Amino acid sequence: MSPGLISVAYVAASILFILSLGGLSHQESARRGNWYGVAGIIIAIGATIAGFGLGDLTAVIVAMVLGIAIGLPMANKVEMTQMPQLVALLHSFVGLAAVLVGFSSYIEPLVIMVGAEHVIKLVEVYLGIFIGAVTFTGSLVACGKLDGRIDSKALTLPGRHWMNLAAVVVAVILGGWFLGTDSMVVGIILLVVMTLIAAALGVHLIMAIGGADMPVVVSMLNSYSGWAAAAIGFMLGNDLLIVTGALVGSSGAILSYIMCKAMNRSFISVILGGFGQTSSSSTASDGDQTVHETSVDELAEELRNADSVIIVPGYGMAVAQAQNGVSEITKSLRDRGVKVRFGIHPVAGRLPGHMNVLLAEAHVPYDIVLEMDEINDDFPETDVVLVIGANDTVNPAAAEDPTSPIAGMPVLEVWKARQVVILKRGMATGYSGVENPLFFKDNSLMLFGDAKESVDKLMGALRG
Ligand code: NDP
Repeated sequence: MSPGLISVAYVAASILFILSLGGLSHQESARRGNWYGVAGIIIAIGATIAGFGLGDLTAVIVAMVLGIAIGLPMANKVEMTQMPQLVALLHSFVGLAAVLVGFSSYIEPLVIMVGAEHVIKLVEVYLGIFIGAVTFTGSLVACGKLDGRIDSKALTLPGRHWMNLAAVVVAVILGGWFLGTDSMVVGIILLVVMTLIAAALGVHLIMAIGGADMPVVVSMLNSYSGWAAAAIGFMLGNDLLIVTGALVGSSGAILSYIMCKAMNRSFISVILGGFGQTSSSSTASDGDQTVHETSVDELAEELRNADSVIIVPGYGMAVAQAQNGVSEITKSLRDRGVKVRFGIHPVAGRLPGHMNVLLAEAHVPYDIVLEMDEINDDFPETDVVLVIGANDTVNPAAAEDPTSPIAGMPVLEVWKARQVVILKRGMATGYSGVENPLFFKDNSLMLFGDAKESVDKLMGALRG
């Protein structure tokens, strides 16, 4: 394939990736967005392989077959609730790739450069390896934390910000030395030392982040992996990788910014790994701490008599796989003329968009699934709110208790409705480990049990 044709294919793939990102920003167009992405990646891989020439094809095919053999069963097996750790693991691969490409392009450059171009190349290699190593180990730690293999509590070593700063300063000093040396052996030693420092920095940055902040970390690492891919693109002189890496890097950063706002976190302090000091408990402080229980039949009666209902799903709905039952209840109530809508918190569940995907799968109409900002003012005029397996995202302590670890985090203000019914198995806290005073409010009722079982029984009662 001629270089001109390859460039055309790369431009086409870049355009498809941009269309893909655009499509993914709305539920109605998300499926189309996915297909744009698939088409883009097929063109990109095809053009890259064609650019290699036939001689190198065996290694490429072996690598692809191996990748498919491992990736396909993994993707088929993974549950929606395990997606964040899978995504974190995949980010680590990008980081590792950046490190390996960095070393190989230093040891055996594709093109020999001189003067300023040579210095720029060395800077690319050094930066690429640094970002790659931070992304690699940071993503592995994030994966371990999300998977429960590593304690999700924040590791707050004394002087940890100074340690991070020292690591960066030492890496910069070694970088200066690296640019100045003519010896490849010295260069490799410096690169190895810097890689170890960056790897330790990656571990430390993510270890210092507590459970409730992990969603932002996953999207930050997504952004880092994009920049690592862009760095690989620079090292290999591959324009498509640069564009794709920049797209992933900037969209990950924008997503992190949106999530920081949703969780009331400072974006800058996230980038510096300077957050995550949330203590893992707080006291529930509302009145006499009495919990009022309800039954399926009472709830069915309440719903039948309601004019407007808002359903707030959370992680528990995903674990219980209750979305189909929830969809049936929605249909049944709407058929009776009840106004039913959904309120979705930006970080409900274990990854952004988690609830939207489940509800779309269960054929809940998109137009009644509203974002937190769109629905938060409507709770005071709502008869019944059904909180299904959500906890942190509806915790009034965030709005009412300045001492709470989640103080200031915007939440769905469900307690302002006439009646709130919370479906969960017991009195356990949510992912952040913070107690929830909502359960003790006078207008709150608890329906204990597995969300799927409760929802199925509720559907039976509504039919009856
Ligand atoms: P939470 O984690 O706050 O609460 C989920 C609740 O579901 C628990 O209190 C649990 O209570 C209940 N539950 C669990 N299993 C079941 C079941 N089978 N049936 C019924 N209830 C069940 O969920 P939210 O969605 O409200 O909040 C998301 C939290 O996760 C936030 O803290 C967020 O920061 C964090 N997070 C979000 C990510 C994202 O990107 N969206 C990524 C990672 C973390 P019980 O055990 O008593 O049933």
